[in-house]
Parts: sequence; structure tokens; C-alpha cells
Amino acid sequence: MTDIQQLDERTVERIAAGEVVERPASVVKELVENAIDADANRVTVAVEAGGTEGIRVTDDGVGMDRESVQRAVEQHTTSKIRDIADLEGGVGTLGFRGEALHAIGAVSRLTVTTRPRGGDVGTELVVEGGEVTAVEPAGCPEGTTIAVDDLFYNVPARRKYLKQASTEFAHVNTIVTSYALANPDVAVTLEHDGRETFATTGQGDLRETVMSVYGREVAQSMIAVRAGASPGDPQSGGDDLPDGPLDGVSGLVSHPETTRAGREYLSTYVNGRYVRAKTAHDAVVDAYGTQIAPDRYPFAVLFLDVPAGDVDVNVHPRKMEVRFADDEGVREQVRTAVEDALLREGLLRSSAPRG
Ligand code: ADP
Ligand code: MG
Repeated sequence: MTDIQQLDERTVERIAAGEVVERPASVVKELVENAIDADANRVTVAVEAGGTEGIRVTDDGVGMDRESVQRAVEQHTTSKIRDIADLEGGVGTLGFRGEALHAIGAVSRLTVTTRPRGGDVGTELVVEGGEVTAVEPAGCPEGTTIAVDDLFYNVPARRKYLKQASTEFAHVNTIVTSYALANPDVAVTLEHDGRETFATTGQGDLRETVMSVYGREVAQSMIAVRAGASPGDPQSGGDDLPDGPLDGVSGLVSHPETTRAGREYLSTYVNGRYVRAKTAHDAVVDAYGTQIAPDRYPFAVLFLDVPAGDVDVNVHPRKMEVRFADDEGVREQVRTAVEDALLREGLLRSSAPRG
């Protein structure tokens, strides 16, 4: 006789869901990624009480027909890759795991309302605690709205672990801001309890997008970083980049007098993908040297270009951390790129000799 038993499907599902969905911000991240992958020009994120009382993400992307939306909420279903070979070749989409909608549906009441571009009927599908409870034709605009209510209603331990609305909203804000900055051609709006937090125009360049999310003062203080090859235009390199893992470093960093007390205004992207890259953050701060106080941090929106194939995108969906094989090389390249930008503007007191 053995005490070892196979867990039932519902239990397995809820444990697995916890890997993807930690808090409202993780739901928002997945839904915004899906909207961007769906070719949306406009994405609106509206949350109540930091997302603990409701999350709604609306896009004007490609939408889904009835069959597709039923497929989308099943486990490990994706339209983005077919097999591991597609993944090895480097994926062009933010998602590819086919986990998110299923996981979110397992731990909430999920309503998907969607109509394909050019299609004449919409569909509304409801999932409650992992069970599809309704699929109905619906009148709705082209694109997709996903509403997530009662997050963790069936996982009380998780529900209890949620922080105050203001804390949860801070996480949501960080996520939505990051995606807005990386996608100046998408009009991104964030609303909290019915009030608009920010809205980008979707026709801007990076500086205009920074203005929409961080305000005019910050936007005007930003200095262009442009080192190595610029993506899509390898002929027009900017500053020299020392040899290392990166092909290019570009974006904006703030004037040394425009700083904040926290690190959350350091946004870094690897091949367009938002990541928490401590190495890169440290390198940015290093570049300012003694120009900023030790407890102050600049604003930065930095895009690191790594040759496709040299970066593993198959990182943990929630943690968003990347590690570089040659961490020191990345640190040196980012620091140099930011230093050169600051030097060009005469914002570093002395140019310390570089070894
Ligand atoms: P993944 O993004 O990894 O493919 P998801 O579970 O997030 O997995 O989504 C499953 C599928 O549902 C996607 O591959 C896509 O085809 C479809 N989908 C999800 N969200 C949207 C959306 N906002 N607009 C159009 N299709 C969507
Ligand atoms: Mg996804």
C-alpha cells in the first residue's frame, strides 16, 4: 500500500496557476502582452482597488472568433509558436507559453468579449474557477476586452496575501508604464478607480511617451543614449560601444538633477522585452558617478540589443529577470554608453580614464 496519490486536475491547475499569477500586476502583464501581440493600436487598462476588485484590459487588436476564444482558455494553447524549433529560432511575440488565460481563468472569474477584425459577430465567454460557464454571441466592437473579477476567490491563502490597494496599484502602474514606454506606437491608457493615471498618444516617439507617463519636467531632462548599431538601421551607429555581448544600447536617461528615491524608474528592455536586469541598472547608476547622491536614482528607458540566439527568452514568466552569460561585459557596455551620453552633454565633471 502507498500513501502517494495523484492530485486531481483542479488542484494541479490551481498550483500551476500560482506560478503565473502572483498578484493583480501579473494578470495585467499577461493581458497587456496579449493585446500588444494581437497588433493593437490602443490598449486600455482599468483596475479597481489596485486590481484586487477588478481588472479590465481592452484592445483594438485582431480579436478572436468563437472557436479561437474557446481554444485560447484551454491549457497550453497558443497561436504564437508551433513547437520548440520556433522558440529556438527566436520568437517575435511577447507570449508563447499558452498558459496565461488558462491560469487566470483557474483562479478568478474571467470574461472574454471579443470580435475578430472584419468579423460581424462577437463572442462572450466566461470562465469561473477553471470551468467554462458560458459562451454566447455578443455585440461588441472589433478587438478584445478581458475582465478579471474576484481574483483568487477560490484560493483564499493567496487572496489574503494581497497587499493594500495602493501597493498593488503601484505594481500595476510599473508594469503598464514599462509596456507603454516600449511601445510608443500603441496608445496606452491606465485608469485606477475610474480616474486616468496616464495616457500615451500612440503616435509619439520615446520622449513624447516619457512625457505622457512621467511628465514634462522629466521628459525635457532626458538625454539620448545611442551606442553601437541601432536596430533596423545598422549603418547609422552612434557612439562606439566597447566589444561585448551587446550590439547596441539606446534610449533615454535623465539629467543628473532629475532623480528619485527609488529604482522603479529604471526601465530596461532586452530585444524589446521588458526585463529586470540588475546588472544594467547598476551600470546606469555607475555611469553617473558622484553626480548623484547614493540614495538617488535617475530615470532611464534603455533598450539593449542582443544578437538573436544569444539570449534565452524562456525565462520565468513572472520574475522577468535575465542573466547574461557575460555579465561584466554587459555592465561595461551599458556604463560606457550612458557615460558617453552624459559626457556629450557636459554633465560629467571629469571623464575618468577608462581601462
Ligand atoms: P500566449 O500568449 O502564450 O499564446 P495566452 O494564454 O496568453 O498564451 O493566450 C492564448 C492565445 O489566445 C494566444 O496565443 C492568442 O491566440 C489568443 N489571445 C489572447 N489574448 C488575445 C487578445 N487580446 N487578442 C487576440 N487574441 C488573443
Ligand atoms: Mg499571453
